[in-house]
Amino acid sequence: MKRRIVILFFSILLLNTTIAYAKEEVDSNQSKIEFYKQMQALTFIPWYYFAAIHQYEKNIHTEDSDDSFGIQIPNQKWYGLLPNTTPRTPEVIQMFGGIGRDGNDDGIADPNDPTDVFYSFSQYIKQYGYSEQDIRTALWNYYKREMSVSSITKYAKLFETYDTVTFDDHAFPIPKGYNYSYKNTWGDARGFGGRRIHEGTDIFANYGTPVRSTTYGVIELKGWNRYGGWRIGIRDTHNRYHYYAHLNSFAEGIKIGDIVEAGQTIGSVGSTGYGPPGTSGKFPPHLHYGMYKDDGNRQWSFDPFPYLTRWEKNNP
Ligand SMILES: [Zn+2]
Repeated sequence: MKRRIVILFFSILLLNTTIAYAKEEVDSNQSKIEFYKQMQALTFIPWYYFAAIHQYEKNIHTEDSDDSFGIQIPNQKWYGLLPNTTPRTPEVIQMFGGIGRDGNDDGIADPNDPTDVFYSFSQYIKQYGYSEQDIRTALWNYYKREMSVSSITKYAKLFETYDTVTFDDHAFPIPKGYNYSYKNTWGDARGFGGRRIHEGTDIFANYGTPVRSTTYGVIELKGWNRYGGWRIGIRDTHNRYHYYAHLNSFAEGIKIGDIVEAGQTIGSVGSTGYGPPGTSGKFPPHLHYGMYKDDGNRQWSFDPFPYLTRWEKNNP
């Protein structure tokens, strides 16, 4: 009976995602959420974890974006000790320690079938339990990477809080009505800390000018850094890390793990950094804004300037 329901919902979902190519993406996201919630009803794993794992997997596989709905599970995980034999019988896979299962009741555990993939992932998690900590443990054992676990957990928190999987709103970091100036300085050489290139855009403004989050996200880091001074780091749902440095102050009560919204004030412009905690005034006050992308293996900086000019145009 439960299997039938799974099959039914996967069919509806696949149909919907196909139609969605011609329709608005909103519909597709809505049908995805409905699907995750059905998975929750069947497996007791909160829907936002399915959504978060799915989102994370999409983020790290951006190059093959032909919207294969499923999660790419590596052969070694799916087939266990038989990664080269690739058996299709779920009982054999299970016997050899693979996580591949048959979710759509066709007798085959197919790593390219979304139904089988999501069902398999839920069964993998269930071995560890249902609590937040259990799911974290399951994710750690799956990815063997703290950054992956922490990103998925943050996505889950955002999805749960807002009951959505899409966060398209952005904001320019400096509110309207304040004086500021910036130009493209990405990649420039900089003086402090040896041979490092400038990984970000400097937005010059007066001391105390509000600094806002450019995205929805979760605060990943907050505190002092020798180069960045008082700085804050925010992870968004696209595996991007937003870095705000040289702050004069932090918004009151803001702390690691908090959700922030696009346009929410997180601190103010200052000139802290380039020395031990509290060092300030070694350069004119400005916000250093950096963007970093994580692909599941490593994180690298990319030029935020084009994003800033776009957000500036629609600055709320
Ligand atoms: Zn800078």
